[in-house]
Amino acid sequence: MDMKETSIDQIDESNYDVVIAGAGAGGLLTALALTAEGKKVLIIEKESHLGGVWHSYYVDGYRVDQGLHIITRVNRGSFAEFMREHITPPPEFVLHEGWFFRVHDKVGTIPTSVGETLRWPLTGMKGRLGLAKIGAKIKTMKLEEMESYKDITFLEFMQSRDATNQVMLDVMQSAIYMAAGVGIDEASAYEALRTLKDTDKESSKLSSAKKLLVGSDEYDEGYVIGGMQGLIDRVVEVIEGNYILNTPVEKILVQNGKAEGLLAGGRKLEHNTIVSNIPLWSMPNIIGSDSPDVIEFFDKWSTMKFTQGVTIWLGLDEVVIGDRKSRVIVHPNPNTWIISLSSFDPTCAPEGKELLGLATILPDGMTTKEIVQQVKDNGIKEYHPEILEHIEMEHVQTSYATRAALIPGQTDLDRPGPKTPVDGLYIVGTDTAGSGVGLQQAANSATGLVKVLLDEL
Ligand SMILES: Cc1cc2nc3c(=O)[nH]c(=O)nc-3n(C[C@H](O)[C@H](O)[C@H](O)COP(=O)(O)OP(=O)(O)OC[C@H]3O[C@@H](n4cnc5c(N)ncnc54)[C@H](O)[C@@H]3O)c2cc1C
Repeated sequence: MDMKETSIDQIDESNYDVVIAGAGAGGLLTALALTAEGKKVLIIEKESHLGGVWHSYYVDGYRVDQGLHIITRVNRGSFAEFMREHITPPPEFVLHEGWFFRVHDKVGTIPTSVGETLRWPLTGMKGRLGLAKIGAKIKTMKLEEMESYKDITFLEFMQSRDATNQVMLDVMQSAIYMAAGVGIDEASAYEALRTLKDTDKESSKLSSAKKLLVGSDEYDEGYVIGGMQGLIDRVVEVIEGNYILNTPVEKILVQNGKAEGLLAGGRKLEHNTIVSNIPLWSMPNIIGSDSPDVIEFFDKWSTMKFTQGVTIWLGLDEVVIGDRKSRVIVHPNPNTWIISLSSFDPTCAPEGKELLGLATILPDGMTTKEIVQQVKDNGIKEYHPEILEHIEMEHVQTSYATRAALIPGQTDLDRPGPKTPVDGLYIVGTDTAGSGVGLQQAANSATGLVKVLLDEL
């Protein structure tokens, strides 16, 4: 195998079982799963690289990823499972050493048991008792009950339970923002609760009770050796088919309610099985149909709110942090998540140097430049001044991270995919279907799509 690049004027579309528009995580993982089923794919991508917002590049000798990529659930999650199932040997993930939340001079981890909660250094006893109560409630809550909170925000949920200790809410704000891309005043309570409970499945009564009492220190977040680009290269090696770069799909053609092909690079390709990984916000301009139900479907789903990430990459001329802790500065503002990526994978920095990734929120009305300055002036200057003395490379990224934020009305229970009102046209990606965020969600959406597609092919 090994998917090869080709060009639009060289291909014969009848050689492929499926045509995929867009080579983001959703498109590539769909191609990978279809390969395992003996299918051959053609991928058409508008940019000059594969992967969409999932990729890496070099800046002054440092290999940076798009985004701050601690991959969630590297042991138990669907993305890592997808990799293990399809890639041999599977990619090597290195776990981080846990979350450390700073509230001014105090640092605490996420308490994982009642005992730990009652010793939590970040609040006084009243706050700890409140946290123990709400923590026990969340840990033992069934998925079904969580689903009933899908249309309220996490903050509303906490207020309805009188869990309003400010330090506790501030720490949860940081944790949920880092995992879900939106704050607690916006995140759907259902999605936030699932994130905090860290499970898609129900655990047995016995194991929930045990975790509640003695806690659990297994971390399931990590980085991958070789970075995001290394992962994409491995995925591409396995796919059976071809890809075309620098070629936007201009129209997806529909005839009598069925997909009949697409227009790209000045050519019409005829095909009845099309998977679109194009963001749903672009689809009203791409779908070539005058049927009211098709137009209504794509109009409705084109207005979803996305999440936006700011990542500040710092190359340091010597190793300053040198460990694999996830440090979150909750106060002073702004919330900042600091990771030493080169401590996970030394190949992302020149020898003897260190690559740090700092992620933060871009508040409405603020420029990226202003937020970067605030990050440096506040928490970093106060608690890690040595970082500022060793910066030799600085690179800032802003991008959408996930195409639909996990807010009320946009949870995995509300998503439209993988089918569309057009026969033979399917949708995949982080705004179409799938639980979790980021790569988990892309993997879940691809799994759901391939299941439906194989039934219909
Ligand atoms: C700042 C940031 C931080 C992140 N942090 C994490 C993290 O820590 N952990 C994690 O798991 N995930 C993280 N992610 C998220 C994860 O990388 C993305 O959510 C995921 O890759 C998005 O996949 P998608 O399928 O929705 O595709 P997208 O990346 O949106 O892909 C869509 C593809 O379609 C192409 N396209 C669009 N229009 C057309 C057209 N007309 N014709 C042809 N092609 C077209 C695009 O160029 C793109 O390649 C982060 C992402 C960012 C940017």
